[in-house]
Formats: sequence, structure tokens, C-alpha cells
Amino acid sequence: MNPFIIQENIPLADKNWFKTGGPARYFCEPETASDFQQALGFAKEHNLQMFFLGEGANILISDEGFNGLVIRPRSAPLVITDASDSKTHALITAPAGLSMNSCIEKTLETNLIGLEVFSGIPGSLGGCAYINLHYFQHFFSDFLVSAQVIEKTTNKVLEVNLEWFKYGYNKSTLMSGNYFVISVTLKLQRATDTETAHALGRRYEIIRHRASRYPASNTCGSFFRNFHEDEVSLVWNGKKMIFVAFYLDKIGVKGTETVGGACVSWQHANMLVNKNQATSSDLIQLACTLQEKMKAAFGIMPHPECIFVGFKEYPLLDR
Ligand SMILES: Cc1cc2nc3c(=O)[nH]c(=O)nc-3n(C[C@H](O)[C@H](O)[C@H](O)COP(=O)(O)OP(=O)(O)OC[C@H]3O[C@@H](n4cnc5c(N)ncnc54)[C@H](O)[C@@H]3O)c2cc1C
Repeated sequence: MNPFIIQENIPLADKNWFKTGGPARYFCEPETASDFQQALGFAKEHNLQMFFLGEGANILISDEGFNGLVIRPRSAPLVITDASDSKTHALITAPAGLSMNSCIEKTLETNLIGLEVFSGIPGSLGGCAYINLHYFQHFFSDFLVSAQVIEKTTNKVLEVNLEWFKYGYNKSTLMSGNYFVISVTLKLQRATDTETAHALGRRYEIIRHRASRYPASNTCGSFFRNFHEDEVSLVWNGKKMIFVAFYLDKIGVKGTETVGGACVSWQHANMLVNKNQATSSDLIQLACTLQEKMKAAFGIMPHPECIFVGFKEYPLLDR
């Protein structure tokens, strides 16, 4: 077991996918429930803001950094906890710090299938639980059974079930900021060797497909969230057009719009990329430009899926 320590002035640019942003005033990597309690206790004692960091695949950190305690749950091995005797399904329990891709690999190795639909998406299981990771019609909540969380105000460790999360599209109880995930328990399908081989094939195909559609580094994936049906009026093929990339594509920003070292990906109009030593401020200005252009062209303002860390004020236009 690693000793639990709190470090000072730790760079964060190498710990997030945009590769931008300043340092954390304090930083720690808890593993056990007791480590998590110590981390929260330290933040309370020193009156510090806390930020739970996963793989940093959906965040943008201010160039000034984070003037508080960044808590990054340590990755640890996956445990197959199943005591259910079910012939069709098994339960696995995994730490919040484990990456989704390691989890997929480990579960396929033991003939447990399902998670491969999320192949190639970066993120820790804690980050996936936060946003309710999604890919087309698949959601993280399709697999979650329960979780161990820690409550910010009381420092208590709680066992919670799926209903507790109140999941929707980009929506969960965790977004209140009052609870943090320590571990998750997921229900996966038991498979034969042949079914597992097919799942592996699906995994490779999804990774190949994603590589052709999305930039592979220096991005946070979709910068803006898709619209809810009641936010848009444009109908396309008989359905409300909710996809923000559709509108951004129409205004012709893909691969062309830039601010400093930041640009809109040539592969996907809703993905901003740190192409050439961009600062977080470049990325913010670029996002504001996209908001302005979309408002002017379609009368609607896109809202971020990307989470902002360490900014003194909300950095985009029109919250
Ligand atoms: C190339 C690329 C492609 C992507 N494609 C997709 C996609 O297809 N679908 C999709 O849904 N997302 C996608 N994303 C976004 C990203 O993969 C997900 O949001 C992922 O869940 C982020 O996990 P993370 O560990 O990196 O979280 P971070 O970015 O580190 O944090 C995101 C949020 O989760 C919170 N959080 C992290 N850990 C915990 C915890 N233990 N307890 C409570 N809160 C926590 C953080 O505080 C923060 O608010 C993509 C990103 C990239 C870079």
C-alpha cells in the first residue's frame, strides 16, 4: 500500500488531456476510504476548496491553476466481487481511479462483457460515474449497481445504489459537488469464449471508428453538450436537431477557427484542440468565438460539457 501524503504546488498540465493549466496548491492520491477521509479532513481544516480529478479528459484548468486541494483517486486492481451465483451476470467492484479502458480489458479477460461499448473513451471510473459516460444509446448507468461515496460535509463513507445517482444525459447527483466516488460496482454479462471474442472484435472496431472521427489527444472530447429538444427549433429529417456539432459544422469552423495555439479539430467541429502550446485562455477565447458565431447564425447559444477548474468567474458567455 502507498503511504498517503499531501504534496504542495504540483503541476496539473501533465494530468489533463488539454495539457494546459497551472498547478494545484495541494495534491494527493488517496486509495483507501481512510485516505479519502484524511484528504477531506485536510481540506476542511485548512478551509480549502477541493477538486476530484480523474484522467482530466473532460476538464479545462485555469492558467493560474487551482488554489485548493486536488484529489486524484489512485488506480488499484479490479476485484471480481460476485457472490450472486448468477449464471448470466457477475458483479465487479473497481476503484474510482481505475481507467475505463483498463476495466474493459480486465473484464474481457475474464469473459465478462458489456463495457466494450465505451472502448477508446478516456476517463477514470469516477469521472465516468460523474458525467454518466455515454456513447450513442449506451450509458454508464446501464451497468452501475451501487457505489461507495464519501460525503463532503460529514466525511462519512456511504454505500449508495443506482437510484441515488438520479442519472440523465450529463446529469447525476454527483454534480451537486457534495459527494465523491471511492469505488463502483458494475453488473456485467457472463459470456462464452466465442461471445467474448465478438466483444473484443466490437472493441477494436469502435476504437478504429473513433480514431477516424475524433482527435486522439490534446482535447477534452466534445466541448459543448448537445441541446435538449426544448432548446432548439430546427427540424432535420423529421426530428429536432439537438447535435451541437451539426450547427458548428454549418458555420464552417472545423479545422479553420483558431485562437493562439488552440483550434477547432479538422475531424470534429465540437472538439477544440491544443495544437501548438495553447494556453487555457486561448481555448476559452476560441470557445467564446464559437458561442458568438452560433448565436449570430442560429440564435442559440451552446453550453459547455467541459468542466472548468480554478477559474475565478464562469469563463464563457451566457451561463
Ligand atoms: C478524445 C476524447 C473523447 C471523448 N469521448 C467521449 C464520449 O464518447 N462520451 C463521453 O461521455 N465522454 C467523452 N469524453 C469525455 C470524457 O472521456 C468523459 O467525461 C470521462 O468520463 C472523463 O473522465 P475523467 O476521469 O477524465 O474525469 P475528469 O475530466 O478528470 O473530471 C471530470 C469531472 O468528473 C469529476 N470526477 C472525477 N472523478 C471523480 C470522483 N471520483 N468522484 C466524483 N467526481 C469525480 C471531476 O471532479 C470533474 O467534475 C471524451 C474525452 C476525450 C478527451
